[in-house]
Amino acid sequence: MAEVNYTYVPWEQLQARTIAVFRAAGSDLREAQLIAEHLVEANLRGHDSHGVGVVPMYLRSQRAKGLVLNQELRVAIDTGAMLICDAGLGAGQVMAHDAMVLGIERARDEGSAIVSLRNSHHIGRIGHWAEQCAAAGMVSIHFVNVVAGAIVAPFGGTQARLGTNPFAAAFPRAGQPPVVVDFATSTLASGKVRVAHNKGVPIPAGALLDNQGKPTTDPGKLFETPPGALTTFGEHKGWGLMLACELLGAALVGAPTQHVGPGTGTVINSMFSVIVSPERLGTAGLFAGELEAVLGWVTSEDGVRLPGQPELDSRIVRIANGIPVDPATLDQLEAAARDVGMNGFLAA
Ligand code: NAD
Repeated sequence: MAEVNYTYVPWEQLQARTIAVFRAAGSDLREAQLIAEHLVEANLRGHDSHGVGVVPMYLRSQRAKGLVLNQELRVAIDTGAMLICDAGLGAGQVMAHDAMVLGIERARDEGSAIVSLRNSHHIGRIGHWAEQCAAAGMVSIHFVNVVAGAIVAPFGGTQARLGTNPFAAAFPRAGQPPVVVDFATSTLASGKVRVAHNKGVPIPAGALLDNQGKPTTDPGKLFETPPGALTTFGEHKGWGLMLACELLGAALVGAPTQHVGPGTGTVINSMFSVIVSPERLGTAGLFAGELEAVLGWVTSEDGVRLPGQPELDSRIVRIANGIPVDPATLDQLEAAARDVGMNGFLAA
């Protein structure tokens, strides 16, 4: 296997250049900053599938009118217990941020809130939104649907029917980073298959079927015409959670579902979030004690790591060493930057 010749880019430079790209594309400063901070944070946490490598896709979405820059979040329905926010295809990093701010305020007042964000452009790494809630002292869970062209086969099937519908949850801890559970309900996030394809490396067995329904480790099979299909994680269990994400994230709240969704290269996300304030419920002390007891108990054996820990470990390494960008991704970023009138991506 050929060795990948990475360029190691300091995260500050990657962030500044990503801000510059979105400013050149027409984003106001806040939007450019929120998008860039989110994407670079995904890189820092080791999820290159949701890092700056998606910038070319975002700009293609904008040109295809699947991403509306400088959009404002609109509260479409507010019943007190539940808010339904419409993003109008706005930048997910702004729309989800602002929806979480509303949900956190509501949970602070009422003890809990259900917030639905519908019809948003790609909202990236879902753990980011759970972390925003955790930073405000909130426990939260998030069910997300993806409309971007079917890419995952239901358990028992061979043909793609749904998106990679991610799930996330976070539990804040006193004086320590939160526990963050955050994954696609496909065996692999589709962006990870793109990253492997760009790197020219195989993907783990069991994650992908070719367009004949046969298992394959060649990431290119996902991008053939007709395309292959990802599998659901955990067989029937992941399939059930994937379906719940589709129904809660979208069907319940009038958001686009995959069966009517476009396959135009844009990514639309809708997210169903439940946000709980232990402080407001008066159970914060009890919860904190029990949480630490549970975490101590489950990690009392060597080799057990808490969800969220691998991302924190990656963050330390990548802050120190820079973020590795593979040649194909860098070429795509350079071309995307030139498309919005810049000299190039890394060139200042
Ligand atoms: P993954 O398979 O890397 O799993 C990540 C989760 O597993 C994290 O919570 C991590 O802390 C935990 N984890 C990993 N190794 C662990 C270990 N040894 N012990 C304990 N916990 C461990 O994630 P993925 O499915 O590839 O998803 C990657 C990212 O893609 C996620 O951030 C997800 O939100 C995002 N995503 C977004 C969309 C979208 O449409 N916006 C769609 C799919 C996925």
